[in-house]
Amino acid sequence: MKKHNFYAGPSILPQYTIDKTIEGIKDFAGTGLSILEISHRSKEFVACMNDTVALFKELLEIPAGYQVLFLGGGASLQFAMVPMNLMNKKSAYLNTGEWAGKALKEAKLFGEAVEVASSKEKLFNYIPKDYTIPEDADYFHITSNNTIYGTELKKDLDVKIPLVADMSSDIFSRPVDVSKYAIIYGGAQKNLAPAGVAFVIVKEDILGKVTRPIPSMLDYRVHIKGESMFNTPPVFAIFAAQQTLKWLKDLGGVKAMQKKNIEKATLLYDEIERNKLFVPTIADPEDRSLMNICFVMSENYKELEKPFGDFAKAQGILGIEGHRSVGGFRASTYNALPRESVEALINAMKEFESKS
Ligand SMILES: *Cc1c(COP(=O)(O)O)cnc(C)c1O
Repeated sequence: MKKHNFYAGPSILPQYTIDKTIEGIKDFAGTGLSILEISHRSKEFVACMNDTVALFKELLEIPAGYQVLFLGGGASLQFAMVPMNLMNKKSAYLNTGEWAGKALKEAKLFGEAVEVASSKEKLFNYIPKDYTIPEDADYFHITSNNTIYGTELKKDLDVKIPLVADMSSDIFSRPVDVSKYAIIYGGAQKNLAPAGVAFVIVKEDILGKVTRPIPSMLDYRVHIKGESMFNTPPVFAIFAAQQTLKWLKDLGGVKAMQKKNIEKATLLYDEIERNKLFVPTIADPEDRSLMNICFVMSENYKELEKPFGDFAKAQGILGIEGHRSVGGFRASTYNALPRESVEALINAMKEFESKS
């Protein structure tokens, strides 16, 4: 049976990425060696790294003055690296979910990290809009897509201080005006590659302004100088990321992808609204994520949650259970998820409704 992969992360990758990765495991770039066993200093892997960086810059139209890094430690290590490298005394955070809260918690280790607004009292079901960013803060941190709660800030904010964004779960899902950001980072395992690598897009002139000593492995400048090879980079995950980026370029890049993502999300939100069994957890369409679509059973059908989950699973629809902290359902509709999978889920919802 065809499987429909709605997992939130690690998550669906393009078939192209899987196929090319299998080829690379068998014979990487005609070397006769596997990508799993080749030196990161080999000229073939250095070429792969350079091409992956070049594709990143091309597809996101990253302006001059920015560097792209591939590092270990996931997005979670960036929660600490950002304040360590950018924050002298003060920083500002928008608390829109669990990941945003974790980022804020790490920043508090390095000084006064101000929470400018939070939607926690409403279980993070909206993105706060009214807040003041302290202008004496060294940066303002946002989480553009809240993977767990299903909200997304779909535009690039204009702020007066350097802007930092965790884009783990919506990078490459839409065009981004990188020039508005000082740093964009994320784990690759949502929209790009298997787990094991984080990407960091960093504006070079933001660095070197803090006085604290920074361990080499945590210093962006060290990784810039080493071209992401200060230590052994996550070779395999970077190779897979290169394949995804080639696939994305072939499809027409982030603009074409955004169009597909809007179509998929609209189909599913429309069905959630129409179907009497379900309600969306995010009321305001402006705040609804195009990547993680969250819904629950409506009031009169609460007892059908598990039966629907089982029904969907029996049809090959996998990974739609909500995060363990919120329950309900979450359908992750990342770039690689084909429209036919969304249609399969919608059909399951319709069929289940007619039986209930
Ligand atoms: C998954 C996720 C993280 C955590 O990423 P790790 O690579 O596991 O550290 C952080 N932020 C967001 C928005 C995420 O979706």
